[in-house]
Amino acid sequence: MSHLSNVVAYNRISLTNIINLLALYLVNIAIFLLLFSHSVNANTINTSEFKDGVPGKYIVYFQENNAQLSLKQAQQVFSSNQVKQANSNSISLGIGTAPAWLKFSVKHDGVSKELYRLSVETPWLDHIDTWLVHDGILIKHVIGGDAIPFKQRPMQYRFYAFEHAFDQGITDVYIRVESLGPMAIPVRLSTRENAIKRDIAAGYQYGVLWGIMSALALYNLVLFIFIRQKEYGLYGLYLIGFVLNSLSYTGHIHTVITADAGAYFQDWLDITLMLTYSVAGLHFARYLLNTRAYAPKLDSTVKWITIIIPTAMLLGFVRDQLVFSTILAFILNCGFVTLFIAMGLSALKAQQPFAVIFILSSLTAAICITVSTLAVAGFLVPYNDYTFKAIEVGMAFEAILLAVILARQFRMAKLDKVIAESFARTDSLTGLNNRRGFNQVTDPIWNNIVREKRDVSIVLIDIDSFKTINDTFGHAYGDQVLIEVAKCIKATAREGDVPARWGGEEFIIFLPETNQRKALIQAERVRSEIEKIQIMTDTLAITLTASFGVAGSENGLIGNKTMAVVEQEKLINSADIALYTAKSKGKNRVCAMSL
Ligand code: GH3
Ligand code: MG
Ligand code: MG
Repeated sequence: MSHLSNVVAYNRISLTNIINLLALYLVNIAIFLLLFSHSVNANTINTSEFKDGVPGKYIVYFQENNAQLSLKQAQQVFSSNQVKQANSNSISLGIGTAPAWLKFSVKHDGVSKELYRLSVETPWLDHIDTWLVHDGILIKHVIGGDAIPFKQRPMQYRFYAFEHAFDQGITDVYIRVESLGPMAIPVRLSTRENAIKRDIAAGYQYGVLWGIMSALALYNLVLFIFIRQKEYGLYGLYLIGFVLNSLSYTGHIHTVITADAGAYFQDWLDITLMLTYSVAGLHFARYLLNTRAYAPKLDSTVKWITIIIPTAMLLGFVRDQLVFSTILAFILNCGFVTLFIAMGLSALKAQQPFAVIFILSSLTAAICITVSTLAVAGFLVPYNDYTFKAIEVGMAFEAILLAVILARQFRMAKLDKVIAESFARTDSLTGLNNRRGFNQVTDPIWNNIVREKRDVSIVLIDIDSFKTINDTFGHAYGDQVLIEVAKCIKATAREGDVPARWGGEEFIIFLPETNQRKALIQAERVRSEIEKIQIMTDTLAITLTASFGVAGSENGLIGNKTMAVVEQEKLINSADIALYTAKSKGKNRVCAMSL
């Protein structure tokens, strides 16, 4: 037992046929309403037409008062008519409730000895007894339930099942179920052939659903190991927890691993696993949506719920109070669904990036869980293969949507990094490269040029008397001047030139494939463009000038040295010396390093 709805378990859902599912769903509602209106007194199944199904509507039932009844006593109760007619396909009586007796009849006309399989598909039911009575004579008593050692069960199977060939005439079937856990009793009767088909189909369906979730879980756990971001780890735990829980309440774990661990082992394992994934899921949502930042009350409520309920359940375990702990687990599970939606809504209100997808995914899961729960409870929703397993499909769908969120979060983190890196390379005032950006771009080009003995030049630019501009018109105006000069340098640069802000009011241009002579011409062009700049103040237009220092190679040589020995830094120093010369010669001019 697990989710209110984990009460729900096997049966098929065709993943490939979701549209059919919807259509069938509507048809089922129609059939449900039809059968419901004719259900009274129609409790005999005819084998000529009934080949596979849940005979809930043919079943009458009652619950024991205090003492355990014998078959004879139960038969008297049934004939006294103080019984209830099941009005849905499943009988669900709640948690920790009195043992129940069920009865239906099977009419077999033919002489064929076709084998039928009767099963009760909830694996956690402790004691299940079935008596087959034909013509007033008891012909079979089949004992099962998970309180019985696996080897002694009627079929070596993950839930109660046995096979029988009905004799001609009417056979009355009496079933007594006793269990501390949720008493959901989906009796199923099928021909052996149909039962085997269902078995095989169920194997594939569970394989697909658990496969999807396990792969997602492992992938995210690996991500967590490498990136160490809590969301990934918690998400992995959440999914693994759900898969284990699902494996447990469908009886798979107990069939393969813990077959003989005793009557209540399965119940305790079920609720423990239910707890694990609910707690991991809630903390995953807290970290993913960062609820602490904008919904601190909700956040701490969630946190405390995940501490208090498990502690109380542990106390229940210590004092051997299975019913108490089970009810708590179900409360946590309902809370889990509602809190997910509440967290999604508050994230939406706080305009968190993934709120909409998160709400969509948790609502889908909640709806699927509700459908399964109502179906098992026999209320509003018809009980069938599709509604029975809606929870697994809902959870798989939710898992995929949450994976989408994590993937998008991953991409956003990467974008953030790209943006941060580009900020580190760019001068925020002018938008040009800063020193760091300049070096990053030019270092590889420099190495290439040196290797291939081609030419390269450096132009250093310093605005003339910039301090005076600043002092006269203010710092903000000075900034405007820097922006305009940067624009001018960018506009006059040729393709391949790399301009940058070198510091204060100094700029640099890296000119690949350009010898010093050509660099002088290019620098002169930039100088005369800067001279043309006019920047308005309140009253007048200001012009400005700049001085230029140029240093470059000729035929792959700088002076008489090959560039392999002259580093880029040295060339920049030479340009700086040339710039100093330009300043000392009266500014607003271009000077070159002497070759
Ligand atoms: P010279 O002609 O010899 O180059 O004289 P100058 O005044 O241009 O040179 P100096 O180095 O004395 O002054 C540069 C000034 O540039 C000093 C500093 O306050 C100013 N400055 C540096 N960075 C910025 C900036 O980002 N914005 C503004 N508005 N001013 C800046
Ligand atoms: Mg200056
Ligand atoms: Mg200066």
